[in-house]
Amino acid sequence: ALTYDDGPSPTATNAILDVLEKYNAVATFYDVGYRVAQYPDVVKREAALGCEVGSHSYDHKDFKKLSASQIQADVKQVNAAFAKAGVKPTSFRPPYGNTNATVHANVPLPIVTWSVDTLDWKTRNTQSTIDEVMRNLKDGDIILMHDIHTQTVDAALQLIPKLEEEGYQLVTVSEMAAAKNKTRY
Ligand code: ZN
Repeated sequence: ALTYDDGPSPTATNAILDVLEKYNAVATFYDVGYRVAQYPDVVKREAALGCEVGSHSYDHKDFKKLSASQIQADVKQVNAAFAKAGVKPTSFRPPYGNTNATVHANVPLPIVTWSVDTLDWKTRNTQSTIDEVMRNLKDGDIILMHDIHTQTVDAALQLIPKLEEEGYQLVTVSEMAAAKNKTRY
């Protein structure tokens, strides 16, 4: 399951969606609420192409540092932004992957982290992003990338056809959970 965080971006996300559409593949997008409000059409397109749309909080705060009521306020704000776009988020990825009992108790969606971190945000290097995936990949993996960097777009252009050629089936995180008989990751 390829996952893209921190978007939507009208340029990067749309370019990744073009590749997914071309190869009949899907990914999961963990969108940030304030960007959902800015670019609702990109979110609509993610959903229209059969991709999973998840929440990545309203403005990327560290949820470990928030109180229960602050988390609830964030959830409300995110839901309002998604409702305006006409898309319902089906899972939640906490910013920085940071969770605790308070987060679990106050976010009403399955919480999904990842198993392979490409570090695309740090290296900003197309080849290194591709190499991290190919070096670490096994069945059932959830791969973390960010649909706000051009290098990540360039990596998608090569990765998606490459993975399909090697026989991998690209699925959303919810499809993966169902296939692996897990209720959540
Ligand atoms: Zn993030």
